[in-house]
Amino acid sequence: MEVQKSKEFEISNYVKNASKLYEKVTNIDLGEELPKIQVLSTSQIDENRAGFQRDNEIAISKKLNEYGRKFVEGVTCHEFFHWAIWKSNLENKFDGEGLTKLSLERNYRFALPLKALLIEEALGEKINSIEEGTAEFFAATLISKNEKEIPINIFYTYFYENPSTSYQLSLNSISYLRLKTAIKEVYTTYQKFDESLEEVEAQIQELADKYYKLFPNSEALHGIGRVTVLFAYEIYKKENKNAEELLRDLISSPWEAVEKVVIEIKEDEDKKILKNAISDFEEGFEEHLRGKKENKKELNEVEEFKNRGRD
Ligand SMILES: [Zn+2]
Repeated sequence: MEVQKSKEFEISNYVKNASKLYEKVTNIDLGEELPKIQVLSTSQIDENRAGFQRDNEIAISKKLNEYGRKFVEGVTCHEFFHWAIWKSNLENKFDGEGLTKLSLERNYRFALPLKALLIEEALGEKINSIEEGTAEFFAATLISKNEKEIPINIFYTYFYENPSTSYQLSLNSISYLRLKTAIKEVYTTYQKFDESLEEVEAQIQELADKYYKLFPNSEALHGIGRVTVLFAYEIYKKENKNAEELLRDLISSPWEAVEKVVIEIKEDEDKKILKNAISDFEEGFEEHLRGKKENKKELNEVEEFKNRGRD
């Protein structure tokens, strides 16, 4: 019971920090109105689910504790973000409210068809790719000690805090390779994006299929959202803007940000955006593969010793 209490205390602190960041970027003070937090055991929450938000409630799986503090904090902040935009009536921005008007005014070419394809509704559940990507970016901003860590922390659910076992280490290196491929695939798709809705539809479908092949049990739309936001971050960095400025823009006009990502990538002739995204991602991931190198060194030493013994 004591452990449970301290966990809840920790989680309510994550929520308070998340609320402060939310206020800072939106000027919306949610004040005392924080969500109700529940830590659920595996019998109460779908095994494959880390957490969810439903109306005024955030639920987090108890199982997350096994994955480390960063994981618990990340999922809490992610779910908080869904709650906060629901609470402040900003969900409709992500759903594309006002986008048609904006598209005409600013002559958008990609935001509208992308919106149609990156929001999916099935069995009463909606997946909004860009809302998910923004939620991960919001969480990444909170769990990162500095801006440098943000690109890797957008993908925090793919690796554990302490790669202490060889199982975790190999899992980390598999995720590393798959995510790198995913980043390249999203980039290539946006770069060859066509203006006709039919073409765009085929291209996004092809991308989603590739994504499912890379991550068979996950949501392709979540993934495309995360990578899109990573590219937005790289573009902002190039313009000397920080993570909070990007968050502000993503929340106030998410599809405008997506339009910008596609246009910038199409004009990115020397693939600078892709190169920067990959190198930021790799740099952040190094820490999670470090153990592997050390292990390898140890193994090499053992091998060397064995060889010496044979002499
Ligand atoms: Zn979510």
